[in-house]
Amino acid sequence: MSDAKIIDGKAFAAVLRGRVAGQVAALKASHGLTPGLAVVLVGEDPASQVYVRNKGKQTAAAGMNGWEHRMPADVGQDAVLAKVAELNADAAVHGILVQLPLPGQVDEAAVINAVDPAKDVDGFHVINTGRLATGQDALVPCTPLGCLMLLREALGDMTGAEALVVGRSNIVGKPMALLLLGENCTVTVAHSRTRDLAGACRRADILIAAVGRAEMIRGDWIKPGATVIDVGINRMPKDGGKTRLVGDVAFDEARHVAGAITPVPGGVGPMTIACLLSNTVRAACRQQGVAVPEVG
Ligand code: NDP
Repeated sequence: MSDAKIIDGKAFAAVLRGRVAGQVAALKASHGLTPGLAVVLVGEDPASQVYVRNKGKQTAAAGMNGWEHRMPADVGQDAVLAKVAELNADAAVHGILVQLPLPGQVDEAAVINAVDPAKDVDGFHVINTGRLATGQDALVPCTPLGCLMLLREALGDMTGAEALVVGRSNIVGKPMALLLLGENCTVTVAHSRTRDLAGACRRADILIAAVGRAEMIRGDWIKPGATVIDVGINRMPKDGGKTRLVGDVAFDEARHVAGAITPVPGGVGPMTIACLLSNTVRAACRQQGVAVPEVG
């Protein structure tokens, strides 16, 4: 079999960010509306700081308003909830993102569910989760939404396909499974207690890996011609004390078997922030009662 098509998430995300920038420009011109995203960052986690910095840059590049609210690592839960309440009440803020993970003294679920569901651009609030699960219009978590866009681009209609999601987290695996059901796939969700993971993978026309274990899914687990979306981001040491990123799929093996595959980096990763910007535009439009502008 010839090598897999490489699904270029970096290029697709650039197109999506361009579309969002066009929508923002149209909203400013037609309604004087500038979508705004507020990010709350608690503590000094280096990975979170990088994500938040990137979100800030891309929000500005799209022409949107952005605010960063930093809180110390030892902050109390009441202070975080008070910050969320302040942002809920601020009409210029259309999207609120609380960067996870939060330190142990702060109850993550309480904070997520304190965000106004209309401003919940991460799609983690129980109202949005319930809406997604019941097929109603919802703000959808950014990473699985990005995966869905890449799948639609690669495959078009997915009706009847056998889809396997490896991982059942609230932020990736579960919403991904629901989105694939919405595409009329036959969906299986695997996790750490799944008995024959390799066998389940070999049956999948669409394989989503969201585990967090470097190169766990081997080339000979993949059905020939399958479409493989690798969500995993694992940092591996390399010579000279540096690190490199690898996914949950053994890419160099899988690319000779799959029909199409996302690389790491440059696959799902760039789609996440692009979808966050897109969700913020949707949230702003919904709050102001205007249609999302049709752009290119
Ligand atoms: P979690 O740790 O919350 O969930 C991991 C899931 O993998 C769990 O459901 C777990 O099962 C399952 N799992 C663990 N070990 C195995 C195993 N040996 N066999 C089968 N399943 C297993 O991770 P997340 O969902 O938050 O993230 C998954 C990966 O995606 C990570 O690498 C993360 O960095 C990456 N990620 C990337 C994003 C991006 O923008 N590209 C965004 C978010 C995450 P169980 O439930 O039984 O414990």
